[in-house]
Amino acid sequence: MRIAFLGPPGAGKGTQARDLAQEWGVLHLATGDMLREEVAAGTPLGREAKSYMDQGALVPDDVIIRMMGERLGRADAGRGFILDGFPRTIAQAEALAKLLKDLGQTLDTVVYFDVSEPELLRRLTGRRVCRACGHSYHLTSNPPKRAGVCDACGGELYQRDDDTEATVRRRLEVYQRQTAPLLDYYRQRNMLTTVSGEGPLATIRGAIRAAAGAIR
Ligand code: AMP
Repeated sequence: MRIAFLGPPGAGKGTQARDLAQEWGVLHLATGDMLREEVAAGTPLGREAKSYMDQGALVPDDVIIRMMGERLGRADAGRGFILDGFPRTIAQAEALAKLLKDLGQTLDTVVYFDVSEPELLRRLTGRRVCRACGHSYHLTSNPPKRAGVCDACGGELYQRDDDTEATVRRRLEVYQRQTAPLLDYYRQRNMLTTVSGEGPLATIRGAIRAAAGAIR
């Protein structure tokens, strides 16, 4: 199973990827999570990425492509993966195809999460994330049992630096300009399945399972 989740920030890619990667026994490779780990660890890559991330801009393609080339080349990626937040530009999509070709692999399918813009804004500005396990909550529509504490692991919940309203608007613009062209790119290659990213989590998960089942 080699699959990529495509969609704007706040579409629910991470939530679904986390659960389905566990269900399918494949890796969940989220470039945003990988970058945040580099930032937290203060690595050179993290220092370079941080200014772009704080502005809601994309980290340059060559940085991301190098990071993912290294990650996909590791032995554990051979058992399959869900890509979450990558590729985000046409250049990244082309680099991904080449990386996989060199590994003797292909991407099975791309699932696009369709969510309206007002709903994305609502979700992102109310989002709180667990620092320890990455689980996401929403202040009103999916609050934790105890404010500020993760139900799953007891970790501390925080608001991502880039989930403030001004930065969220910028990220949505960046998505429209740089990432949305990937819809046509994958549609033309017959690789795109669209699922509605609104409604109950279980319904969305079922639609993704069906999309993935079609290629199993
Ligand atoms: P995310 O957690 O997917 O919303 O990503 C958070 C931030 O990390 C984005 O706003 C970008 O600055 C950066 N980022 C994540 N994935 C990529 C990517 N594939 N290409 C460029 N920048 C990325």
